[in-house]
Amino acid sequence: MSAKIAVLAGDGIGQEIIAATLGVLECLQQEFGFAAELEHAAIGGAGYDAYGQPLPEQTLAVCQQADAILFGAIGGPQYDGLERDLRPEKGLLKLRSSLSLFANLRPAILYPQLADASSLKSELVAGLDLMIVRELTGGIYFGEPRGIRVLENGERQGFNTLVYAEHEIERIARSAFDIAMLRERRLCSVDKANVLEVSELWREVVSRVGLDYPEVELNHMYVDNASMQLVRAPRQFDVMVTSNLFGDILSDTAAMLTGSIGMLPSASLDANARGMYEPVHGSAPDIAGKNLANPLATILSLAMLLRYSLRELELAERIETAVGEVLDRGIRTADIAGAAASVGTSEMGMAVVTALRSAASR
Ligand code: NAD
Repeated sequence: MSAKIAVLAGDGIGQEIIAATLGVLECLQQEFGFAAELEHAAIGGAGYDAYGQPLPEQTLAVCQQADAILFGAIGGPQYDGLERDLRPEKGLLKLRSSLSLFANLRPAILYPQLADASSLKSELVAGLDLMIVRELTGGIYFGEPRGIRVLENGERQGFNTLVYAEHEIERIARSAFDIAMLRERRLCSVDKANVLEVSELWREVVSRVGLDYPEVELNHMYVDNASMQLVRAPRQFDVMVTSNLFGDILSDTAAMLTGSIGMLPSASLDANARGMYEPVHGSAPDIAGKNLANPLATILSLAMLLRYSLRELELAERIETAVGEVLDRGIRTADIAGAAASVGTSEMGMAVVTALRSAASR
């Protein structure tokens, strides 16, 4: 059966990195019999320019009918003056909430060839491959009541509410266990159960869900210890699952371990593993249109799309292996080249295609 993939290139370098990634997708179709129907749609500033809205209705409809969405990046200085609801970022937020994408997957992978780019010693991080699963639509960022009130003594007080219902914990736990099943089958649930009642419930529900996954080794860690362990010995982790707030912080820490923003893919999934796949970085207006952007984060997002939404595990691995081979050959875009010579966005995309083609003929 043919997979339906919505392609939203967006703004800035979005166009270039998606073009390079579609070259890789086309190669999978030609060389490995992968069947996919692509539908392109406008989002962000491009949506506003074409239809006056950052998430045009027809774009939402295309995404609702797709099995997965491949997303580039949105935003640019020319849209900064627009009223808040019309800004490109709003399109992305609306899309995530309209599709109930509650599980945010943030892998931190450090290819051994790039170990020097990390802020940690290379012997600690070379070969790092961990996945943080962050709850994205609940917790303290959305809890009510919230606000700033004036107390009787006239002092102002800010307040937010940390709430998680059992079903919210259960569904993110299930997503994380499912992901662990596709990896090394080790899951670390991160909470603050020694202080917070919400975390007590979190721990209880995650443990209960774990009974359905006897092959996965589950452990629990307090968030303060987890943040310490991430910079002390990050390779001890396979999959981590945590709440919105803790995940926001831990996933950025883990991302920094890998050194380059141009290498980091991500995904946001719903309860049926339908999802949106995008690089972690933005539209990089400073280098847009110059064939300078690193397309590997987007190409690796396509690999995630194949693994998590389409269950095409072999094709996902082929892409990741091809990226490793390209790095082995010393091919680098400017952001990861250091003092060495570099190639452009399209050349990097072609290098991955060449590596895939030569694997097909071996
Ligand atoms: P950015 O991620 O776009 O860029 C930060 C720095 O990293 C820049 O110097 C950029 O040149 C570099 N960089 C980013 N991606 C790169 C790549 N693939 N290859 C090489 N270098 C790369 O963040 P920013 O500058 O803070 O934001 C620019 C615009 O992007 C803003 O409008 C912002 O709102 C938007 N944004 C969008 C998303 C998204 O689409 N998901 C995420 C973050 C920021």
